[in-house]
Amino acid sequence: MVLETNLEQLQLFAETKRSENLSFQAHLQNLESNQIDNSVMQLNDFITPQIDCTKCGNCCRSLMINVSEQEANRVAEHLNLTRIEFDERYIEKGYGNDMILNTIPCHFLSESSCTIYANRFSGCREFPALHIPGFTKRLFTIFMHYERCPIIYNVVEQLKVLVAFEFEKEN
Ligand code: SF4
Ligand code: SF4
Repeated sequence: MVLETNLEQLQLFAETKRSENLSFQAHLQNLESNQIDNSVMQLNDFITPQIDCTKCGNCCRSLMINVSEQEANRVAEHLNLTRIEFDERYIEKGYGNDMILNTIPCHFLSESSCTIYANRFSGCREFPALHIPGFTKRLFTIFMHYERCPIIYNVVEQLKVLVAFEFEKEN
């Protein structure tokens, strides 16, 4: 199986497969969700080790990152900063004091690698979240990231093959 990792190609495919992907999402809703989860997890286990995230880094270049108090304390300590210094440099606080990193791309991305990898935030650890059950309940976010993340793109395309999905174009 040849995996597609070229981000420009992914954007093109997302455009040309827009109708197909809408049809696939509708198709998935008719299938047994636990079976889809099992298939997605198996595909994820097979595909993820073949894709080098340090050559991609596209999630770190394009996603908003939530930060918890505990994570902010941990990264501030790692960077030898006080919490006040850390917050001033890296954090924007929203309504209810929710915290996000204050830039996209992420401050901590260097070339395509994370400079605080061992201390990265939970959202970074979780993404692209294909190991988490409930795939068919998260189709909006999955397909929002379809052209952003080569892991998601390839898992989705292989899932189409696995469930024998056939797209019939309307003329
Ligand atoms: S903290 Fe690291 S893994 Fe998370 S977005 Fe920034 S560079 Fe990426
Ligand atoms: S998780 Fe996806 S978008 Fe992020 S670096 Fe890996 S392949 Fe790229």
